[in-house]
Amino acid sequence: MEKHAFGPGREFDLIRHFLRQAPAHDSIIVGPGDDAAVLRGGVVISTDAAVEGIHFRREWLEPAEIGYRAAACALSDLAALAAEPWALLVSLVLPASDYGKFAVELMAGVQRAASLVHAGLAGGDTAATSGPLVIDIVVVGQTDRPVLRSGARPGDHVFVTGELGGAAAAVAAWTRGERPGQEARRRYALPEPRIAQAHWLARHVELHALIDLSDGIASDAAHLAAASGCALIIRADQLPVGPEATLQLALSGGDDYELCFTADVQEVGAVALEFFEHFGSPLTDVGEVTSGHGLQIVDAGGKRLHARGWDHFGAKP
Ligand code: ADP
Ligand code: MG
Repeated sequence: MEKHAFGPGREFDLIRHFLRQAPAHDSIIVGPGDDAAVLRGGVVISTDAAVEGIHFRREWLEPAEIGYRAAACALSDLAALAAEPWALLVSLVLPASDYGKFAVELMAGVQRAASLVHAGLAGGDTAATSGPLVIDIVVVGQTDRPVLRSGARPGDHVFVTGELGGAAAAVAAWTRGERPGQEARRRYALPEPRIAQAHWLARHVELHALIDLSDGIASDAAHLAAASGCALIIRADQLPVGPEATLQLALSGGDDYELCFTADVQEVGAVALEFFEHFGSPLTDVGEVTSGHGLQIVDAGGKRLHARGWDHFGAKP
């Protein structure tokens, strides 16, 4: 199988190109291609940039929410390997006009997100810029049993936690010049990295493959299929569409930070109610893994739907 297997998209074509010559090291057990890398000792590490004008607009969020959201999104990649969060390193690239209260509030938001998952702030970097605000966050964690994107097998079912499309509904409302509903705004501004859910699932079920939904299931499920060398079928009518969202937003909208995993349908069925009682949010069976390759999204009648997730260098979905 291809070593750096991603779903389609110009962003991932570019990354694949970089990775052709990527230097290796004995300490790198799982290198680029998953949500996070795994180093010797089960140390898990990942980085994520939040860029003003691309990932957020400052008119949409309070300064503390900008920081919280950047950290929560980065931490979600630890959930995506079922790792335990340890520490964050925060590079703050700050327009000079944000010096002072704004920056302090932003960092308080970062620290709040870290505290909520019992991670510490290990360091960072602070620099001025004449460009937009950028927050790049490195997250470090640990697990002895990382759950990778590559473990899906034919016969598995595909599941998602929670509800999808809420964050994208907020962005769509702001983009139309409207105020988003309260729940959609909360989903965008204050996403919760599903760390506890990932650990719970890893304890109760044999998870075969796991990814976090940062770019929309239409994109992220395709990465999971490519990494596993299997085909995934997602049944659109089974998707848990959030109350303020639409099917299209649930398929293509990024920023939900829910988990998508594959496992035995009976094993998950046996714990789904307990999961709901514990977390107050559902586990939903949204499709199957088969032999073959690629992602197919189908409607209730089996007709193929076309949807694309977020691609930094692609056409808008
Ligand atoms: P995620 O959405 O889970 O944060 P990305 O889609 O950003 O993951 O990245 C996919 C994979 O490609 C990850 O394993 C990441 O480490 C790797 N990657 C992305 N950009 C680069 C880069 N510039 N150099 C090396 N690896 C990269
Ligand atoms: Mg991810």
